[in-house]
Amino acid sequence: MNPAVWVQRHGRARPDDPAIADGERVHATWAQFAARTAGAAGGLRDSFGLSPGRRVAIVMRNRPEYLEAMFAIWHAGLVVVPVNARLHRDEIAYILEHSESAVVVTDTDHADDIESLVGTVASLQAAVIAPGDGWDRLTATAPAPLTDRRPDDPAWLFYTSGTTGRPKGATLTNRNLLMASLSYFADIDPVTAQDSILHAAPLSHGSGLYGLPHIASGAVSVVPHSGGVDGEEIAALIQRWPCISFFAAPTMVKRLAGDPAIANADLTHLKTIIYGGAPMYLADLEDALAVFGPRLAQIYGQGETPMTITALSKADHADRNHPRWLDRLQSVGTARTDVEVRVIDDDGNELPAGEIGEVVVRGDVVMSGYWNQPDATAEALRGGWLHTGDVGSFDDDGYLTLRDRSKDLIISGGMNIYPREVEEALLRHPGVGAVAVVGRPDAEWGEAVIAFVVPADGVPSPSVEELDQACLDTIARFKRPKEYRFVDSLPTNNYGKVVKRELRDRLRAEGPTVG
Ligand code: AMP
Repeated sequence: MNPAVWVQRHGRARPDDPAIADGERVHATWAQFAARTAGAAGGLRDSFGLSPGRRVAIVMRNRPEYLEAMFAIWHAGLVVVPVNARLHRDEIAYILEHSESAVVVTDTDHADDIESLVGTVASLQAAVIAPGDGWDRLTATAPAPLTDRRPDDPAWLFYTSGTTGRPKGATLTNRNLLMASLSYFADIDPVTAQDSILHAAPLSHGSGLYGLPHIASGAVSVVPHSGGVDGEEIAALIQRWPCISFFAAPTMVKRLAGDPAIANADLTHLKTIIYGGAPMYLADLEDALAVFGPRLAQIYGQGETPMTITALSKADHADRNHPRWLDRLQSVGTARTDVEVRVIDDDGNELPAGEIGEVVVRGDVVMSGYWNQPDATAEALRGGWLHTGDVGSFDDDGYLTLRDRSKDLIISGGMNIYPREVEEALLRHPGVGAVAVVGRPDAEWGEAVIAFVVPADGVPSPSVEELDQACLDTIARFKRPKEYRFVDSLPTNNYGKVVKRELRDRLRAEGPTVG
């Protein structure tokens, strides 16, 4: 099936209801959304001569036209390539070239860059500027009929955020997107036409994926007018729109929880905050629960299995009387309805509860492969399972706790140390604002544990002795960092994830420590 059928369906069933909002203002009703996507689809097919299966990229900050472009591309039977708009021009060029995108829908901020790539990127015919003339002309073209698409046809090339190496394009089919949407209803929340979804995080990533079950259900898609994350604006939008949910990376949840505009806001309309994409530390989660109440749900996923491996439900977050409540808060929850999840050893054998190994997943939500990368596809999907590269263990009740990415594991003196638990211990100290723990080559130990610490604002900086004590309070002595480095900030990628590779490179450049 073609996801664009949802827009056409709501265009007929509830033509005058709001479909897309630009902040507090209605940008398009369902009838307008349906007409604009069918028109732009006609334009993409006829003006550019694109046949089904060709790729069209979107390089645009969050704005209402993003959703129009996405659904127009699908309506025309084309494959959407949402590109993180904060990437460097050369990184964007790489993705356009690799995906062989024919047209880019973009905004005025990126127009010059993208236009300069036409002629350089062989496949690229044109840039269409979404705000204003270019896009409006396209949407006013004679409407195209909805193109038939098969379940296994590619729909979305999801270029991974690339904390390691060059981005790869996870090929998500129509079936993958449908399964991700249905399992949102099964495991996160039911959604109705009276709901809203706020796109505070990039539409090219998790927020775009969570938009799908909401559009399927006829809910309003609200794009903050600022295009970003601003506490006051989010507080106002929560009051303006009913039953509102949004996806946020853990750093964003932490920032919002500490924002006085949110603390003083009326949160009655707030339905759910779905967080995930990176570790949420227990100390931050407890703060967030105090501010938002039992409205938090966690997901663990990857571009390769869009946002769907496990979830920690709102009910789990609220179940304070459960004897293992705190353990559960540190987990990523239980397997999603539409997947099988296992933890395996290096030989591919399934490990019992309590043992740590690589997390693998299979199910109808798992990508068909990496676009034009058969070797990487065969490696990632070997044996019919998606190998996530994440390391974790199940408990007896089926809750999965992630330790780390396999390459983040530190082996010191023959002992495995998972940076996450050292980070959790250090974050318990009020003087620690943020922390990243990595391994440094060490002549005696193989690797030594090094903590990069960003002191918290407004409180005295912690001493090394205090940090050591914070570790000794909760973790084994041998896991304690050998060294603390106080820094102003941690290197992050465009999705706010800490890029540990950069920290490791920094340490490696200094050479191994002796003895
Ligand atoms: P991406 O494909 O860019 O969304 O990155 C996926 C990776 O983010 C996963 O393989 C995990 O390493 C990490 N990740 C996603 N969700 C979580 C979560 N809830 N807790 C910890 N790490 C996560």
